Amino acid sequence: MIPVTRPFSPPFKEYQELLEGIWQRNWFTNNGPLVNDLELKLKRYLRMKHLLYVGNGTIAIQIALKALDISKEVITTPFSYVATTSSLVWEGCTPVFVDIDPDTFNIDPTKIEAAITDNTQAILATHCFGNPCDVEAIKAIADKHGLKVIYDAAHCFGTKYKGETIFKWGDVSTTSFHATKLYHTVEGGALFTEDAEVLKSMAWRRNFGHKGPEDFHGVGINGKNSEFHAAMGVVNLNYIDQILESRKKQSGFYDDMLMKPQIQKPKIASDVEFNHAYYPVVFENHETMLRVKKNLEGKEIFPRRYFHPSLSSLNYVDKSSTPVADDIASRILCLPLYFELSEVEIDMICRRILRVLNN
Ligand SMILES: *Cc1c(COP(=O)(O)O)cnc(C)c1O
Repeated sequence: MIPVTRPFSPPFKEYQELLEGIWQRNWFTNNGPLVNDLELKLKRYLRMKHLLYVGNGTIAIQIALKALDISKEVITTPFSYVATTSSLVWEGCTPVFVDIDPDTFNIDPTKIEAAITDNTQAILATHCFGNPCDVEAIKAIADKHGLKVIYDAAHCFGTKYKGETIFKWGDVSTTSFHATKLYHTVEGGALFTEDAEVLKSMAWRRNFGHKGPEDFHGVGINGKNSEFHAAMGVVNLNYIDQILESRKKQSGFYDDMLMKPQIQKPKIASDVEFNHAYYPVVFENHETMLRVKKNLEGKEIFPRRYFHPSLSSLNYVDKSSTPVADDIASRILCLPLYFELSEVEIDMICRRILRVLNN
């Protein structure tokens, strides 16, 4: 069986060694030494001054919205994982969908201004599949209209823009370290900001609002993560270069075989160092996509329809028209991509796809 992804599993012994330390200290959670160590190592790796390690990538978005005091309309993308929209609605915000760019699958900055109203407070955009949004255009619009920007950078570990981590962009960037992501801590996520005040606010909100044992800054939530999760993060960080390198190679094999006019891939800007988090391919029409999917599934190969349906069609949002996202969502498949996936397997997957296209 070839799934669309598999969690990276480091050598068990390396994880076990850290578990022994957790047992000896009998310190399981609440800002323990491994959480601190992971935050430090991540800051060093990403070359960022600040970050907060949290329970998952969804609570990260929720904490960012709370810390930036956002509760009204938020302009967002219809083409992302459901958590981008559901966290907005969960926080009482109203998602306002702006369609995506047909080449990058990211929110189309040229369509943002038309969606701004007196109630608009922020833009929440996803760097889809790890490919950065047009962050400069979005910043210019946000600055002009006094809006906050939050990036759902759940796919972006390892992606750089103009030589620096993409997590630097936005008032706040969030990411996910879920087991299906390229770098993971089983469950987990992080918040990034360069603003000291916002950082402070997010830090206490992550910990129930505590100011001291019996004193509170305000309303908080449990956004913490444990020593067990941090341990996985510390071990996996030793393999991040290998992980990024193997995905680049695997994507190259796919590229070599799937360079066909009938197959569209997202356009990556030239000043981007892409992390190859996913391998999305868009077919000419819905029917061809379904035929490819069915053919692969017949061989126990399971690509995923990321992202389908488009989020503007969820039953808890106001209906809005996003024809580009709907169209891409109807034709896209993410092909298998994970550490152990071999060249032989990629070759087999591509041959099957090409056979369907040539029939
Ligand atoms: C995975 C993902 C999330 C959610 O992250 P969790 O850590 O699973 O909560 C949010 N947004 C996007 C785009 C994702 O891919």
